[in-house]
This record gives sequence, C-alpha cells and structure tokens, in this order.
Amino acid sequence: MVKSGDIVTMALSKGRILEDTLPFLENMGIELIDDPEKSRKLIIETSDPRLRIIIVRASDVPTYVQRGAADIGVAGKDVLVEHDGDGLFEPLDLKIAQCKLMVAVREGVDYDSVIRTGGRLRVATKYVKAARTHFARKGVHVDLIKLYGSMELAPLVGLADAIVDLVSSGKTLQANNLRAVEEIQQISSRLIVSAAALKLKHDLVQPIIDAFERKLV
Ligand code: ADP
Ligand code: MG
Repeated sequence: MVKSGDIVTMALSKGRILEDTLPFLENMGIELIDDPEKSRKLIIETSDPRLRIIIVRASDVPTYVQRGAADIGVAGKDVLVEHDGDGLFEPLDLKIAQCKLMVAVREGVDYDSVIRTGGRLRVATKYVKAARTHFARKGVHVDLIKLYGSMELAPLVGLADAIVDLVSSGKTLQANNLRAVEEIQQISSRLIVSAAALKLKHDLVQPIIDAFERKLV
C-alpha cells in the first residue's frame, strides 16, 4: 500500500499542455493508465504508483498546486501572470505551448493614431491583469472588458476597440479580420511546484523536477 504522503499528485489540463507534457513523463519511463482525452476520470493513475495525474482546467492548475491539493503542475505563463498569491515555485520553463500575448485591432484601424488621440481604449480580454499592466506602462487609459473566450468577436461587434489575446499562427485573427499590433509577452508553459511539497515531499518531488530538466537540455 502506498500512503498519500508517498504519492506525488501532478495537475495537468487536457489539450496541448497534457499532450506536450506526456513526452517528459515518457522520458522518465512513466505512462498513463487511462487516456485522459477519452476517459471521464479526473484522477489518472500512472505506471509509477508514486505518481498520479489530476485533470483540471488550465486556469485552475495554479490554484490546486498553491493550496497543496496537487504537488506539482504545468501551467501557461499567461495563467500564472493572472493568478494571485504565493506558495508557488516555478523552477522550469518547459518551452512547450509557446505563443505570444498580443494586442490586436480590426484590420484597417491605425492603432498608433488611436493611442495618440487619447480617449479611453476599450480592451476586451481574458488577461485583465497582464493587459492592465501593459497599458499602464504605456500610459494609455483603458476600459478593460473581461471576457472568458472568443475575444476576436469583441472588436467586430463594437464591444471593444482592441483585444489582448494569445496568438500563435495568427490564423484566427486573420479569419476574423483582425491584426496583431503589439507584443506584450512571450508565453510558454512552466513546471510549478508547491512550496509545501518541495519541503515535505522533497525526496519525491526533486527527482521529477530533475528529470524534466534533463529532458530540456
Ligand atoms: P483553455 O482553452 O482552457 O485556455 P488551452 O489548451 O487553449 O486551454 O490553453 C492552455 C494553455 O496553452 C494556455 O494557458 C496557454 O499558455 C497555451 N496556449 C493557448 N493558446 C495557445 C496557442 N494558440 N498556441 C500555443 N499555446 C497556447
Ligand atoms: Mg484555448
């Protein structure tokens, strides 16, 4: 029998983060017992009885790890920037799920002159904190409109003048007649570890961090 103190729980989100994290686990000789993309189970055992995976929303990963419900996790820098609170270490940039946080406007809109003319810029985004910091640095007054998805729609129907969103190929922007005009930050996913686990489960957690790091170099 493995006691719960002898188990490491890793929080992952379905989709690209799970997909891109699996090779790190495979590299350690670890496989998942069920396929999370097919199974409805939210707790997935692995071939290593000392490691289990929990499946959570991408933006919930830091919450589970920070509060010690998971010992370790993988989260996008975008999610980490928006997340408040301490008790989280970010020991490794895994260089997966890479994209950019960008400002985009409708095709044909002269962003620079809109900014220069002043007035409040209405910005729709899921990334309110990152957007607020970015525009404050530029000295641009903004009205931030919090959305949970489909940001591209906002400028098309007059909800906002600009959006702040993640961009990789730019195809979604293009398909919606939008154009990226400013880069805010490069984004990739990070291995995160709870301060408590690093202390109390050091002998279990540190080898996982080391193995992830070895795969990176
Ligand atoms: P969700 O839809 O729940 O936000 P995603 O799988 O779309 O989940 O995103 C998970 C993480 O992957 C994001 O937090 C971000 O770091 C990264 N990501 C999001 N969109 C892209 C993209 N187009 N290309 C690369 N990475 C991305
Ligand atoms: Mg998404």
